Amino acid sequence: MDNKALYNLSYGVFMLATRTEDGKVNGCITNTCMQVANSPTRIAIACINANYTCELIKQSGKFTLSLLDQSCTYDTIKYFGMQSGRNVDKMGDLTLPEDENGIPYLGWHSCSVISGTVVDSMDLGSHTLFIAEVTDAKLLSDNKPLTYADYQSNVKPKPEKKAEDRKIKAWKCKICGYVYEGSELPKDYTCPLCGHPAEDFEPVYE
Ligand code: FE
Repeated sequence: MDNKALYNLSYGVFMLATRTEDGKVNGCITNTCMQVANSPTRIAIACINANYTCELIKQSGKFTLSLLDQSCTYDTIKYFGMQSGRNVDKMGDLTLPEDENGIPYLGWHSCSVISGTVVDSMDLGSHTLFIAEVTDAKLLSDNKPLTYADYQSNVKPKPEKKAEDRKIKAWKCKICGYVYEGSELPKDYTCPLCGHPAEDFEPVYE
C-alpha cells in the first residue's frame, strides 16, 4: 500500500470545542469533518482518542466546530492544537462567544460555526468517530475556509531567517493574530480582539 495515495484526500481545519455539565471546557484542532446526511442534517467528525477534548465530548455529547478560514494564523492553530487542555486552561483567559449550549467557539479566524449533538460514536482505535446532528450553524465571515492543504503550504511556518538586524514594524497578538501597527507596543496595551496583554504580542519585522 502506498500511504502517499491517501495524502490526496482533502480536509479542512477546525477548532473543536466542548463543555461538560460540570463545567470542564476545552478545544482542539481537527482536520476531519464532513456532512454525511441532510434530513436530519448530520456531520461526522473524528477526534484523536488521546485528546482531552475527545474525552470531554464523550461526557458532554455536544460540541461546537469552528471552521477556520484563510485569515487564520499558525499561532491560533498552535494555541489550540499543540498544547493539551490537561496541562493548560486554553479557554480560561479568552473571551470567546458561545453557542446556545454555552460552548465557546472561535470569534475570529473562522468563517462558520456548527453546533452538534452526538447521536452515535464508534471507537476507531486512534480516533473516535462521532456522528452528530447539527442543531445550529452560523456564518461568521465571508472569508474562504482554510483547507488542510492551505495550512500545509501557507500557514505552517517555514524555517526562519535570522531575526537580528531586522526592524520591527508592528506587533502581532500570538493568541488571535491582531496586528498593532508601530515599532513600539505600549507596555499596558491589551489586544482589542481577545483581551490578552502586551506580553502575548510578538514583533513583526520589516
Ligand atoms: Fe488578541
